Amino acid sequence: MKYIKIFLYVMVINIAQSQIASGKFNNSVTTWDGSQRAYVNFDGLRTLWFNTGSLCNIACQNCYIKSSPQNNSLIYLSQDDVNEFLHKLCNDGHDTKEIGFTGGEPFMNPEIIPMTQSCFQEGY
Ligand code: SF4
Repeated sequence: MKYIKIFLYVMVINIAQSQIASGKFNNSVTTWDGSQRAYVNFDGLRTLWFNTGSLCNIACQNCYIKSSPQNNSLIYLSQDDVNEFLHKLCNDGHDTKEIGFTGGEPFMNPEIIPMTQSCFQEGY
């Protein structure tokens, strides 16, 4: 889980740095040409997506995360990781309706069945 957070943090920082360097995201209210930015008010966490890992049995050219049989940059998510988030959803009072799994290929993760069972047990 730590590696996923670090990977996402580094990815966000890299994107943000390149966008700031291009002058596109210097202002959170207006765009580079002075137009008002679009926004969506946060009104709940209806769907929680779990990324099960970046490995995939194939390697599509347009893959958003460059998954492949060799890309293990995101280590496999574990059932313990999922349980931690499920408990947090419950304790924080989110009205989450749906859990999604993505990757990589979720069924390459050896804990995909226990992870889905945890979700079912929590009523998802
Ligand atoms: S995760 Fe999806 S898009 Fe990416 S390589 Fe695998 S099948 Fe293709």
